[in-house]
Amino acid sequence: MLIGFGYDRHPLVSGRKLILAGVEVESPFGSLGHSDGDALCHAVIDALLGAAGLGDIGEWFPETEEYKDANSLELLRKTVEVLEKRGYRVINVDVTLLLSGVRLSPYREAILGNLKRVLKTDKVNVKFKSGNSLGFEGEGKGISCYAVCLLQEASG
Ligand code: MG
Repeated sequence: MLIGFGYDRHPLVSGRKLILAGVEVESPFGSLGHSDGDALCHAVIDALLGAAGLGDIGEWFPETEEYKDANSLELLRKTVEVLEKRGYRVINVDVTLLLSGVRLSPYREAILGNLKRVLKTDKVNVKFKSGNSLGFEGEGKGISCYAVCLLQEASG
């Protein structure tokens, strides 16, 4: 068993979509990034790569033309494929997302559904933290995400 930890952070700006695990969330602002800015997928990708000892998301999916506006759920799918080729499978993933000013609970099932399908495990959990009235990093200005995962190495 191998544990991995991932973190990601993006600024929130108007005129961009807010996409979380491939789900478009209704919001007055969206995530700024080279790809689609899906901080949730990026944190999970880094957790998976970390567990497998394979570096980080920037090495696998650099900010080149190829990954401009990339669909990050697709990048997560590719990451799982990379792990599978090396004999790993995902046991579970647990995510904590920090975001103020947007109600995310209506999107929970869609987010979980996408993650479970791509990660090929039902053991996926996502937690939404609003920061209560304190907010996070300036109300509505930033999104942060933490993820941990457990991988199993295929036994010979
Ligand atoms: Mg990112």
